[in-house]
Amino acid sequence: MMASCERTACVAAVADVAPAVSPRRALIFLGPPGAGKGTQAKRIARKLGLPHLSTGDMLRDHADRGTELGLLARPIMEQGGLVPDEIVLGMVAERLSRPDCANGFIFDGFPRTLPQAQKLDELLQRGPWGKPLVVHFVVEAEDLVRRMTGRRTCSIGGEIYNIHDQPPKVAGRCDVDGGELIQRSDDRPEVIRERLAAYDGKTKPLVDYYRSQGVLLDLPGGANVEAVALTLLEMVETGASPA
Ligand code: AMP
Repeated sequence: MMASCERTACVAAVADVAPAVSPRRALIFLGPPGAGKGTQAKRIARKLGLPHLSTGDMLRDHADRGTELGLLARPIMEQGGLVPDEIVLGMVAERLSRPDCANGFIFDGFPRTLPQAQKLDELLQRGPWGKPLVVHFVVEAEDLVRRMTGRRTCSIGGEIYNIHDQPPKVAGRCDVDGGELIQRSDDRPEVIRERLAAYDGKTKPLVDYYRSQGVLLDLPGGANVEAVALTLLEMVETGASPA
């Protein structure tokens, strides 16, 4: 809580002297696959004008383009494992060095291991961002599987739908650009099991890591997309959990 108060005070101080300057925001969305991080990150990134940095999207793009990195990552991703830290960290460091990240960004699916989190701390301290605000998406295990098996993604703009809970207006087509909706190859039941195991073994410890730094807020992520989005926005704007 300490860090949240410091953060709010800092934002207020900046606003007092220079109202036109928006606060820098380094946001990390942490949680298991299927928790809704990507869906919420896309929405809030648009709203706040921050870049949405999904390491999964970056890796899929490399895999689709057949780059050296993509050829290495693809088989690991198809089995639900984690791509080696050095590869992901190199990609992230390059992305953070671009000008659009100067005033903040939203990480979705990164960091996923303790070494990634430690390296990110270093990058944030060395850059203009300082301490991050980590939003921990809390969702029941059975909801995660339902969300992953129902997930469909627009092949043009990457908009995310769910055939059970958030279907498109026209089946199989994106509401925004009419693109074909496709199912991710790693959203199959046998791969989902591996991805959840990777989360439990390697990523879940980051909840304690960030909680002990006083920078983590728990977001109940089981409600519908609109309700979660409202709670999330309040958290990000105030740096605290809603009362
Ligand atoms: P996501 O789209 O975040 O669910 O990621 C899809 C897949 O990409 C994961 O199952 C991993 O194989 C890989 N991946 C994404 N982000 C990371 C990361 N930070 N570290 C290691 N592997 C990652």
